[in-house]
Amino acid sequence: MKNRMPAVFVGHGGPLLALEDNGITRGMAAAAEDVVARHGRPRAILAISAHWYTRGSFVQGAPKPRQVCDMYGFPRELHKLSYPVSGDAALTAAVRDALGDDVRVSDDWGIDHGAWSVLVHMFPQADIPVVQLSVDGTAEHRRAYEIGRLLAPLRDEGCLILASGNVVHNLQRVDWEHPDAASTATLAFNDRIVRAVETRDDETVIGFERLPGAAYAAPTPDHFLPLLYTLGAGEGGPAHVFNNVGVLGSLSMTGFVFEGDAGRA
Ligand code: ZN
Repeated sequence: MKNRMPAVFVGHGGPLLALEDNGITRGMAAAAEDVVARHGRPRAILAISAHWYTRGSFVQGAPKPRQVCDMYGFPRELHKLSYPVSGDAALTAAVRDALGDDVRVSDDWGIDHGAWSVLVHMFPQADIPVVQLSVDGTAEHRRAYEIGRLLAPLRDEGCLILASGNVVHNLQRVDWEHPDAASTATLAFNDRIVRAVETRDDETVIGFERLPGAAYAAPTPDHFLPLLYTLGAGEGGPAHVFNNVGVLGSLSMTGFVFEGDAGRA
């Protein structure tokens, strides 16, 4: 049997996450170590970040993608943090083959904090090429899942599909007084999604906006949609949850590793 790479969804926080060392960042590192132990090192990583949210789908093609520091007012220390990776022409080409006319190459963006603030913990040596794919903010939500399915065969080519967002992400309701706790509404919505993902009730996850509490948990879909890409890319197989915690009241850091067979027609 071929050893295919999993698809991984990771919950991210602000850019400062890159500098942290806590249970969440160690959970990310452990998830990556487990992937390498079970499947070997990825040849390349296709990163799908909530922070590259576009009309239509774009994929990066630069041999040396720039690192986007898409934040303001953070400590200088953070601006010094660099995650210098190479792109991967073969992966860019494979994404174009998989998605056809529905994707265009663009290097207007780069590796953003949705990707690098978690990659510094998961693959700290920055020695695996990274290509970013944008999140199409204009398509039906089911389309994110279907794009994931189309990308699933890349996993057979040693490509780790890594999407970064949040199951619950409501910046209007952040509780700065309680950084390590989550509201009842956050926990309830997060638990509902975890249950649906673990049991592969994909339709419930795709229809997340119809669930109770969705207006609170995902007032905009940008941070939730990356989960649908990985759900599609890991279609059919079991999922393992990690970092199943909420922070700052209205964020969940939950991640999933999808290891099953995927994309078989
Ligand atoms: Zn974010």
